[in-house]
Amino acid sequence: MRAPILVPTVLRNLAKKPATNLFPETEPVPIPEDFRGIISYNVDKCVGCRMCVTVCPAGVFVYLPDIRKVALWTARCVFCKQCVDVCPTGALRMSNDFLLASYDNYDDKFIPLKEEKIEEVRRKLEEKKKAKGQGV
Ligand code: SF4
Ligand code: SF4
Repeated sequence: MRAPILVPTVLRNLAKKPATNLFPETEPVPIPEDFRGIISYNVDKCVGCRMCVTVCPAGVFVYLPDIRKVALWTARCVFCKQCVDVCPTGALRMSNDFLLASYDNYDDKFIPLKEEKIEEVRRKLEEKKKAKGQGV
């Protein structure tokens, strides 16, 4: 009777190190180029064009008309990168961060535009308006 075909392979593999990475007990594997991690938003570069709102298939973006910026629910993101591709100012990019497991959808890491920053943008906008009014 012929030995089962898999026996040599099994014996060979018994002597080898595991092929899988034992993360989180070990370091994560290196991140490849063009990796799509959690979305990152630079509010100062945003011009409020709403292209991201239009293309996002997951409803991540909410337009804030009073400050002409967007708020993001990044926990909804499906990492398609369409928003990054259409953003005309480079305000959006895919980060390398993939350690996203959380029990809380409202975890700080999912909310790139914080309330304090919204207030700061609002205040700056008001100051600009006032300065324009005085200039007339
Ligand atoms: S990567 Fe895709 S799903 Fe995620 S925010 Fe951008 S457009 Fe929406
Ligand atoms: S596409 Fe870019 S510039 Fe336009 S609203 Fe979105 S983040 Fe802002």
